[in-house]
Amino acid sequence: MTFNLTILGSGSATPVLNRHTTAQALTIEGDYFLIDCGEGTQYRLMENHLRPGRLKYIFISHLHGDHYFGLVPLLSSLNLSGRTDDLWLFGPRGLWEIITVQFRYSDTKLNYPIHFQETDPSKPQLIFDHPNVQVETIPLQHRIDCTGFLFREKGRKRKLIAEKLPADLPVSYYRQLKDGHDILDERGQVLYSVGAYTLPAPRPRSYAFCSDTRYNEAMFDQIRGVDLLYHEASFLDDMEALSEKYFHSTARQAALTARQVGAGRLLIGHFSSRYKVTDDFLTQARTVFPETYLAMEGETMEINSQTTEERN
Ligand SMILES: [Zn+2]
Ligand SMILES: [Zn+2]
Repeated sequence: MTFNLTILGSGSATPVLNRHTTAQALTIEGDYFLIDCGEGTQYRLMENHLRPGRLKYIFISHLHGDHYFGLVPLLSSLNLSGRTDDLWLFGPRGLWEIITVQFRYSDTKLNYPIHFQETDPSKPQLIFDHPNVQVETIPLQHRIDCTGFLFREKGRKRKLIAEKLPADLPVSYYRQLKDGHDILDERGQVLYSVGAYTLPAPRPRSYAFCSDTRYNEAMFDQIRGVDLLYHEASFLDDMEALSEKYFHSTARQAALTARQVGAGRLLIGHFSSRYKVTDDFLTQARTVFPETYLAMEGETMEINSQTTEERN
């Protein structure tokens, strides 16, 4: 099953040429989930061949403009394109009011329903149960209410050992075996056992998106063992005091978080506009957590399970 992340924007609030504000697309099998929607995100989607019309789920971390100023234009374009399919939107208190005010004064009537669910910044909550994934909020420490999002893949199916199975086996038997049920004959004797004809299901994968935040030990238990952690790193080490004051993190703090929670890999972004190059972010983070990568716009990262048991 596809489980990958495309970076659409990795900058912070002050505009810089060639770097865009926060937005990511998490693709899980046939669906993609838009996480934050900075200014111009609809163009980033098109550049990355993610058709806006296919979008069904949007998650907004907080109401600083660099995380949602692209949302109303995107919703508006979906309307212009004739969309009628439902759309699910998750975000903080106030977001729905902002959207409705903008549409009211432009006399815009949407042709499609938006199901808005308000996030609660005070505690982790399961906010969405999709057939392939569950989504929880992660309370973050920022200047205004802010939540990250934890995506946990649901249990995956066992893998058939194709070369062991007879070619004429009915398709329904394949399904049964993959679901972990032995195939029995009329007398209840085992014909094909799950243990002999399948391999264990790969471990479900997980992705934690930790948007703007200070170094935040309160979330460690919730994201422990996550396969991929995105953590903001607005500043380099020498700016730690300023970073703390602005409710942001340094590259080293992001790496410390990844190390403390035993993440598989770390992705850092939300670089302050004062830095024209980002190499030092990687160097500083990797001294603490070697499996660190920069969130590079236009790049897609496969999210792999941390264990070596995975067999597909
Ligand atoms: Zn921001
Ligand atoms: Zn912010």
